[in-house]
Amino acid sequence: MRIVRFVAQGKTKYGLLTKNTISGLRGSPFSHFEHLSSPSVLDGSTYKLDKVRLLAPCLPSKIICLGLNYRSHIEELKLPMPLVPLIFLKPSTALIGPDDKIVLPRGWKRIDYEGELGVVIGKKAKYIPEAAAKEYVLGYTCFNDVSDRHAQAADGQWTRAKGYDTFAPIGPWIETEANPDNLRLETYLNGDLRQSASTSDLIFRISKLVSFISGVMTLLPGDVIATGTPSGIGPMNPGDVVEVKIQNIGTLTNSVVAQERQTS
Ligand code: MG
Repeated sequence: MRIVRFVAQGKTKYGLLTKNTISGLRGSPFSHFEHLSSPSVLDGSTYKLDKVRLLAPCLPSKIICLGLNYRSHIEELKLPMPLVPLIFLKPSTALIGPDDKIVLPRGWKRIDYEGELGVVIGKKAKYIPEAAAKEYVLGYTCFNDVSDRHAQAADGQWTRAKGYDTFAPIGPWIETEANPDNLRLETYLNGDLRQSASTSDLIFRISKLVSFISGVMTLLPGDVIATGTPSGIGPMNPGDVVEVKIQNIGTLTNSVVAQERQTS
């Protein structure tokens, strides 16, 4: 099942996507988390996918990101294997949806793409054991952990480097049925393949991450866990188009522009 959030006729709604048709949902998928396959969750409206604008498929209270979670990326950086997940936060204000523009901030020097699998939390989660973790997941999506490498190196912690507006592209939808532990993830820059890995290369898998993070902070419906990036990270420039493509999920596409100087 694919869950979209979209604008049609000036209204923002959630819906279920089947082929190219969206069936409108009553309310949000989080209020129907346990019974999304029931026809009673639909409001009777339908829309053609190409007639609506897709938005970020959820509105997280927080985005929890993983540093260093693919073996290949750790080897690329010549760093030791982490013993516990290394987590950091992106603000909700960094969120953008499919086809929205990534804006390079004024004074930018090097801003990288990082293609990642995103996990969308379906219900409130605190101290969840690994064995039950997937019961708290609504589904999976594509995520780009846009990163200011200069600020990351200069600051020693990552709030600025990862937190600029537009630095959290997500979408195009939430896929509820993918197996997150064995998905091919690819990132393309202007059509050229730059990252290619399987989520089977993750050091800490999805159940472990949900369990670990829920032992630190309460996860709320719509929160997103960005599960880390594989090798092949690299810079983006104005005019570039970046795509994060994940098997059985879809492709998140965003173009890149530079922040214009304010004139007044
Ligand atoms: Mg990352």
